[in-house]
Amino acid sequence: MKSYREELWFNTKTRRAYINITPQVAEAVKKSGIKEGFCLVNAMHITASVYINDDEPGLIQDYDDFLETLAPHEPVSRYRHNRTGEDNGDAHIKRQFMGREVVVAVTDGKLDLGTWEQIFYGEFDGRRRKRVLVKIIGE
Ligand code: ZN
Repeated sequence: MKSYREELWFNTKTRRAYINITPQVAEAVKKSGIKEGFCLVNAMHITASVYINDDEPGLIQDYDDFLETLAPHEPVSRYRHNRTGEDNGDAHIKRQFMGREVVVAVTDGKLDLGTWEQIFYGEFDGRRRKRVLVKIIGE
C-alpha cells in the first residue's frame, strides 16, 4: 500500500469564504501515483470545513445566508465561547454544521466524484493562515 500526504494552505481576505479546491486535490492524487484507493480531505482547524457540493454562485450565497441565519457573527456577545476573548463563536458552529472532512474514492488514478460534485474549503474565521490535510492511501 502506498500513502501520500500534503497540506494545502489558505489565507482568505474575508472572514468567510468558500473555495473550490478540487483542482488542488486532483493534483495531489496525480502526484501520489495512486491508482486505486481513497482520498481524505479535512480542515485542520475547528472554524473551517471541507465539504462537497455544486460550484454554483447562487448556492454558495445561499449557504452563507443560511449559516448567518443559523449562527450570526454578531452580536459576538451572544456566544459563551466569546467570553474567552475570541470573537469566533459563530465560526465553530458553522464548521460543525458544514462538517470537517470528505472522503473521495480514487479510481484509475482520478477522483471518482459524482455529477456536479466539487470539493470545497469553507472558511468561517479567515484572514489568517490555515490549512487542509490531503491524505491518499491505496496502490
Ligand atoms: Zn474559538
